[in-house]
Amino acid sequence: MQEETDAPQGGGVQTIAQPILDKLNQFDVHTRRKETCLECGYVGIMGIEEELHPWWLSWWCIALITIVGAIFMGAGLVIGGILIGLRYFGEFDTRVLVCPSCEEAYEQD
Ligand SMILES: [Zn+2]
Repeated sequence: MQEETDAPQGGGVQTIAQPILDKLNQFDVHTRRKETCLECGYVGIMGIEEELHPWWLSWWCIALITIVGAIFMGAGLVIGGILIGLRYFGEFDTRVLVCPSCEEAYEQD
């Protein structure tokens, strides 16, 4: 006698509703973690509309510090290099997340 085994249901795989998928597909970048929308209660990945860098990591600021530092201190290139490193690898960005369910935008540090 052979026992019938049910195909595992779900197994932790969650499908996302099509309208939300469509909305998420409008964004090039998405959150890696699940986010919770405080507006509509949506839990899941969100679209990232843009990433905002703090002013001291903006290109003009990095360029200014590097140039001024190079002229007056000789250490400008090092400082500029550090700032560029922080810009790419640091956790200083503010992300603007958009909830795919209600389109509420959030700023997240
Ligand atoms: Zn929402």
